[in-house]
Amino acid sequence: MDTKDNENLGSKDGIRRLGIMGGTFDPIHYGHLVTAEVARHKYNLEKVIFVTAGNPPHKKDKYVTDAIHRHYMTVLATITNRYFQASSVEINRKGCTHTIDTIKYFRKLYGNKYKLYFITGADAVMEILAWKDAEELVKLCDFIAATRPGYHISAINDAIENIRDNYGKVHFVEVPSLAISSTDIRNRVRTGQPIKYLLPESVESYIRKFDLYTEK
Ligand code: ATP
Ligand code: MG
Repeated sequence: MDTKDNENLGSKDGIRRLGIMGGTFDPIHYGHLVTAEVARHKYNLEKVIFVTAGNPPHKKDKYVTDAIHRHYMTVLATITNRYFQASSVEINRKGCTHTIDTIKYFRKLYGNKYKLYFITGADAVMEILAWKDAEELVKLCDFIAATRPGYHISAINDAIENIRDNYGKVHFVEVPSLAISSTDIRNRVRTGQPIKYLLPESVESYIRKFDLYTEK
């Protein structure tokens, strides 16, 4: 068990809430960070734990940067926010990782006094039903889905109606930086375009130092 995942937490209103943001983070960027911060503030989350995926099952065919690089970038990116934490639980696990295993891990680590919120982009919520053990997953945690300001969520609402009615709850937060993506950042590095202001400077320094995302 990763002991630092379970450090002492304060509580404001009696209900203790914990955010979990899973991602490939290849690399982590301000879209992820802004979303987590907006969700943390809106839902009074005691902290948000960023869980770097080890070997994401849905990206099996694609080349993904070494987990340790992705995790270190996540540590660097979260260091300036006292409510953020980076967990290596998924990258330490052997084989494919699934969100359900991670949620179960944190459920066991924190116990039932915590309400867990899994934070995702709206695109990921749409795919929830395709995930392994989705029915069980939505019983174990709520979801916070990031949407663009002014974005019409009716399509998503329709898509998740099944989940909302039958299993759990999906909440929406508007984030201004939803257009930023790791794919775009990797392409920018590869083609020599700037990535400044899309991600923390420390993460850019890490990318440059280890020569990530340049075509070999
Ligand atoms: P890639 O382009 O490689 O798919 P990504 O930018 O989508 O990368 P992921 O690590 O795949 O990043 O995403 C982790 C989580 O963050 C997912 O739930 C995804 O929907 C969400 N997410 C990704 N980009 C943003 C963004 N700009 N704003 C809010 N959420 C985002
Ligand atoms: Mg993605």
